[in-house]
Amino acid sequence: MKLFENAKLSKGAVDFINDDYIESLINAGPSDATKVREIIAKSMEKKPLTVEEASALLNADEKLSEEIFSAARELKKRVYGNRIVLFAPLYVGNYCINNCKYCAFKKSNTEQIRRTLTDEELRQEITALENMGHKRLIMVYGEHPKYDGKYIAHTVETAYGVKVGHGSIRRININAAPMDHENYRIIKAAGIGTYQIFQETYNHKIYAAMHPADTTKGSFTWRLDGLSRAFEAGIDDMGIGALIGLGDWKFDALGLVSHAIYLQKHHGVGPHTISFPRIQPAAGVKMDESKFPNNYEFKKMVAMLRLAVPYTGLILTARESADIRRDLIEFGISQIDAGSRIDIGGYSLLGKTQELKREQFQLGDVRSLDNVVRELAQSGNIPSWCTACYRLGRTGEHFMEFAIPGFIKRYCTPNALSTFTEYLTDYASPETKQVGLKLVQDELKKMEESPMKKELINRLERIQTTDDRDLYF
Ligand code: SAM
Ligand code: SF4
Repeated sequence: MKLFENAKLSKGAVDFINDDYIESLINAGPSDATKVREIIAKSMEKKPLTVEEASALLNADEKLSEEIFSAARELKKRVYGNRIVLFAPLYVGNYCINNCKYCAFKKSNTEQIRRTLTDEELRQEITALENMGHKRLIMVYGEHPKYDGKYIAHTVETAYGVKVGHGSIRRININAAPMDHENYRIIKAAGIGTYQIFQETYNHKIYAAMHPADTTKGSFTWRLDGLSRAFEAGIDDMGIGALIGLGDWKFDALGLVSHAIYLQKHHGVGPHTISFPRIQPAAGVKMDESKFPNNYEFKKMVAMLRLAVPYTGLILTARESADIRRDLIEFGISQIDAGSRIDIGGYSLLGKTQELKREQFQLGDVRSLDNVVRELAQSGNIPSWCTACYRLGRTGEHFMEFAIPGFIKRYCTPNALSTFTEYLTDYASPETKQVGLKLVQDELKKMEESPMKKELINRLERIQTTDDRDLYF
């Protein structure tokens, strides 16, 4: 069944992926050292790279790659400081009309236990998430006529409506199928943050092999154009992604860069985030592992993306192990999930163990939110639940205006410290609280004296001694 046969693509939609050209870039051979250093210098000025430049970084030899790694580390510090934004995924329903070869939710997987959260179950899940200390969610849905714009908007509004103690969900991002303009408008009105669509692979042949032509997801173009339609419908906060390991990882890394450039050029706004999940084992799925990038190649891809799109957030999910996440955070990751459960009802309704029959794939990092927060703080990273920009309308092209020198110091770090102090006051274990409060003090010491610092100190005090919450600059 094709759901969207008559639906319209965005104005002037084009398929901007030229497979032969991307392959020719990948096969160009080892990059010249002078050229690579010039490219690194360009990104250190926070200028986005071209696809050709991005490919030169991917084709750098091991010695030059070390220079790329240190540049990525440095650029991350300059653009993002030492904050890491934390979120949790919430799977709402796993009915699906598609048959993606890699996914346990595919229609042909009859072993999968199917369910959609009822409103009451959704409220219970949100209650459990708020009681852990979460403020930012990504709500995830299979592709099914049940999960149309109206339904997604209803679940988002229900989730925003749950407030337990000092808890509240302040930002809900969406990962769902591409929609038509009308459905996007309905979802936008519910107050969503980022709308994420992963292209899975940008390689046309591999895309066709993974997504049967008689399914909705079988249309490469409908999916590639998905965020352009979202933009036309008023959603200017967009997340792109590729499922790494389906085809050549370099191809998909360059596909991501091409997509970012396309959105920037055609809509004046680049993607807010990029995700690059690596394929994980899943029930009822057998994948050819020959294309899976090893950890070194994966790190190279992350460092390249950091340099190629300086102002775009990079997300690394709990699909990856704790060790890999620890390592990669330095090279450009700005957002991670923690304490995640990806089975429907996993936070409140089910037991503690993972069971593949209820899940989309297997998680690599199952540490609790408190553990992850403590470890981040111990290594000098400020866990942040900040949602100020989106709530003050600093999104899309307005966000880009704010991505300027000094912005982090003035807004992001103080907001990170406020939300971190909320977490430490309301949810942290005594051990985490101790480590965390020390980090907050260390960060305050680094800040120059100013009226804003005074106000921040006052706010941190109020958070710890009163019911005042959600104070942002
Ligand atoms: N059903 C919608 C869609 O396909 O766009 C919504 C998102 S789907 C539930 C979320 C994402 O999970 C997919 O886009 C895909 O990239 C990823 N995914 C699917 N199977 C996976 C696997 N075995 N390992 C890791 N990620 C997987
Ligand atoms: Fe369905 Fe999305 Fe899984 Fe494909 S990736 S089977 S569309 S849930």
